[in-house]
Amino acid sequence: MATATDKTDQGMELLRQVVDGDPALGCMQCGMCTASCPLGTAMEFSPRQLILQARSGNLDAVMSSPSLWMCVGCYTCSARCPRGIELTDGLWPALREKAMLEGIQPPTELQDAFQNIFKYGNSLGESPRKRLGWAKDLDVPLRDLSKEPTPVEVLWLVGDYPSYYPRNQVVARHFARILTALGVSWGVLGNKERAAGDCDRLFGEEGLFETLVENNKKLFDQQQFEKMVLLDPHAFRALEHFYPRYGAEYPVEHYTTFLADRIEQLKPLLTKQVEATVTYHDNCCVGRRCDSFEPPRTLLEAIPGVKLVEMVRNRENSLCCGGGGGGMWLDGHITEHGGQRLSDDRVRQAAATGAEVLAVSCPFELSRFEDSAKVVGVEGTLKVRDIIELLAESMGLNEP
Ligand code: SF4
Ligand code: SF4
Repeated sequence: MATATDKTDQGMELLRQVVDGDPALGCMQCGMCTASCPLGTAMEFSPRQLILQARSGNLDAVMSSPSLWMCVGCYTCSARCPRGIELTDGLWPALREKAMLEGIQPPTELQDAFQNIFKYGNSLGESPRKRLGWAKDLDVPLRDLSKEPTPVEVLWLVGDYPSYYPRNQVVARHFARILTALGVSWGVLGNKERAAGDCDRLFGEEGLFETLVENNKKLFDQQQFEKMVLLDPHAFRALEHFYPRYGAEYPVEHYTTFLADRIEQLKPLLTKQVEATVTYHDNCCVGRRCDSFEPPRTLLEAIPGVKLVEMVRNRENSLCCGGGGGGMWLDGHITEHGGQRLSDDRVRQAAATGAEVLAVSCPFELSRFEDSAKVVGVEGTLKVRDIIELLAESMGLNEP
């Protein structure tokens, strides 16, 4: 049976793994992390308390608390910690991984997502054979590189939601049209594509993440491409930040930076007016995590007719939609334990600007914010649109 000293040692060891330097010099219990956390008040153990409890050897209490599954990976605590402690990508996943190794199960919906990724290679549990369903009536040529490996400029990882979810499939088709209109040679992995992982490495499921990296590396290494482009900021961050740790390093870009770098080529193609007041939601992975705030705005400001207005919380201070860090599958758990749906709060903030369009650049956000617009009662006055859809409209690229 573990003694109190053993338990304290375990807690300190865990902290040692995630805090740079001497843990005793690390956290000073200032509480900035907890004060910044959008779900901190609902957590039994907020980020600050979590460190305190771990140091005191109360790991069992921390790991069995519902609050272990309430972090949505927004990165605000890590970005603001004066000691630079990596809570989001370090402490939380390490604690979750340890909890799972000790037989503590995550909430059911999250377990289902893990199972789906393991069995089918996508979080939705769809058949890998239907990966190209989004492209069924696509009106531009598509190269399936899994069948005919051809050197291309862009290997586009379409992503789970754009591959399967009808609302996101529209965005995927428009992106294909935009790439084609720009004269970019591009290809996809077709039925061979699998989930890339997430910005915080699958919410603690490090083993599953490693398997994904290993399988994806084999696939990517069979292709010749100049860069990999993704619509999903979570997958982008995983490839950019965590894959290199496993020897899988590729030139990778989120679509917002890829297109913003081609803005001079894009501008003459933006011929149609899109008369709308638009506010943009900075997603946490591309924004706060990767410090990339201007490319989405460069794209929106280039669209004739668009008037860009900012929410009070923007750029590094943006409020998370609640979908990251496994949050897509944790809404039920979070609300059951006293947390609120952050997407509802964010839609209220967007509506307060008077904007007619809430622009996004993450596949999760379309469905989250559209649901929230209904909940909040602004469905008729605030439309949620991916930046790709606004660009396509201005380019006169329509669904047949
Ligand atoms: S912000 Fe950093 S130093 Fe302050 S309590 Fe949180 S982890 Fe500790
Ligand atoms: S990453 Fe965000 S949700 Fe998670 S603990 Fe930090 S501030 Fe809270």
